Amino acid sequence: MKASTTKSSKFTIDDQILGEKCGIFGVSGRGLEAARLTFYGLWALQHRGQESSGIVSSDGKQLYRHTAHGLVANVYHEEDLEQLVGNLAIGHNRYSTSGGGEEHHNQPIVNYEHNFAFAHNGNLPTWEKLEAFINDRGVDIDKLNDSGMMAAAIGCYLDDKLSLEEAIIKAYPLFEGAFSAVAMDKNKLVAFRDHCGIRPLSIGKLGEGYVIASETCAFDTVGAEFIRDVLPGELVVIDERGITSYQVVPGNQKLDIFEFVYFARPDSMLLGQRVNEVRQNFGIQLAKESKIEADVVVPVPDSGIPAAVGYANAMGIPFEAALIKNRYIHRTFIRPTNEMREHDLRMKLNPVPESLAGKRVVLFDDSIVRGTTMRHLVRMIKKAGAKEVHLMISSPPIRYPDFYGIDTPDQNDLIATKKTVEEIRDYMGADSLSYLSYDGMIEATGLPADVFSTSCFNGVYPIPIGQRSNEIVKIKA
Ligand code: 5GP
Ligand code: MG
Repeated sequence: MKASTTKSSKFTIDDQILGEKCGIFGVSGRGLEAARLTFYGLWALQHRGQESSGIVSSDGKQLYRHTAHGLVANVYHEEDLEQLVGNLAIGHNRYSTSGGGEEHHNQPIVNYEHNFAFAHNGNLPTWEKLEAFINDRGVDIDKLNDSGMMAAAIGCYLDDKLSLEEAIIKAYPLFEGAFSAVAMDKNKLVAFRDHCGIRPLSIGKLGEGYVIASETCAFDTVGAEFIRDVLPGELVVIDERGITSYQVVPGNQKLDIFEFVYFARPDSMLLGQRVNEVRQNFGIQLAKESKIEADVVVPVPDSGIPAAVGYANAMGIPFEAALIKNRYIHRTFIRPTNEMREHDLRMKLNPVPESLAGKRVVLFDDSIVRGTTMRHLVRMIKKAGAKEVHLMISSPPIRYPDFYGIDTPDQNDLIATKKTVEEIRDYMGADSLSYLSYDGMIEATGLPADVFSTSCFNGVYPIPIGQRSNEIVKIKA
């Protein structure tokens, strides 16, 4: 999610960003070792959040929780998994944008008073109704972020002796924003999604039970079979009776297209399409829109690879992995200053000079946000001896911030809000710069435009962002 909740907000702690892009997972079924499956599922969803990870399990008698800072592989040790007993579990990988390590924001959130747990992917840009409700109920909302307030509201309705699903359905109208979420009590798993389905959420079958995951790649990892998505506006309950579905409000599918552009793993399925194939189509589409005479096509790993493959094949230009990524460096994007980001980039990416020297290079990436990455890489590739560097970006210019759970920064930090394409090319020091057209991007997905939220490209926000709209200005394309 983007930098800073409303400046005046009492939910901002140490200027930390409280909305997050995240990965969630849930599993329930007789005979399933739920926490271990969740551990593997979260590992497959590591790209959606690297800040912290947590699992809550139930054996039908009580809830067990383990969370810590860091990557999934480091957060859970064998002893941790052994104490997370039961056939029911949910888990969460947290991504927060400005390095803050507030442990109390780790998820899943557990409410021991009512014995339920909750984990959320997405962001609520506004929360007046939600805040008013829980205030009214006398809950102390200090230090609660958007997810914490959602859990608090559910807790209030559990106080009224409702079941978990009844409480969530009751609280649902208070949730204004993007949410794909899992929740559980001692005996059942619940999954639900906002009426636009901005963030993905899918259902899989495993043995006698079911799994829920942000992305289908997690099903492959645990050996589950993808069945269908949790629909926009739908809530599903998974218990010993199987799946029960409630359409809480009418759905109006608006998946964030940035999931296709950057966020999701290439081996996941979104809206029935393989992400890898759509990304290759972005490159094929670019080959129709921007033909460059070049000797080699080079991707920025990993995010630029599929589109570069598509472009190279369509143009008949050799593809070369001439930028090598250190896979053990994380989170370059989110360092606070440009100098820090540049330093991180040098640690993260290094060129192979023999593949570049004397060549006309087409350099591919999925997106330009602030412009730091590409500016640095153009210099790096020229220094390695490239004759020309032509930039290809497999998405349109990002001109608007995100409010639904991805960390595209303040609008002022987005290079395409301030500079024209030609000015950006000049700033990068590149010989040419081509963005994928908006229509070309939609076409390449093979889906109609109206199933997407494309707010970061056109400033159209399908879920109202309330006062946050004061933070943006309309840009003439
Ligand atoms: P820039 O250097 O222009 O600020 O960022 C562009 C790079 O960040 C691209 O390589 C793109 O793959 C990556 N990127 C785009 N969106 C996100 C995001 O939400 N999170 C992270 N970590 N990286 C992103
Ligand atoms: Mg990238």
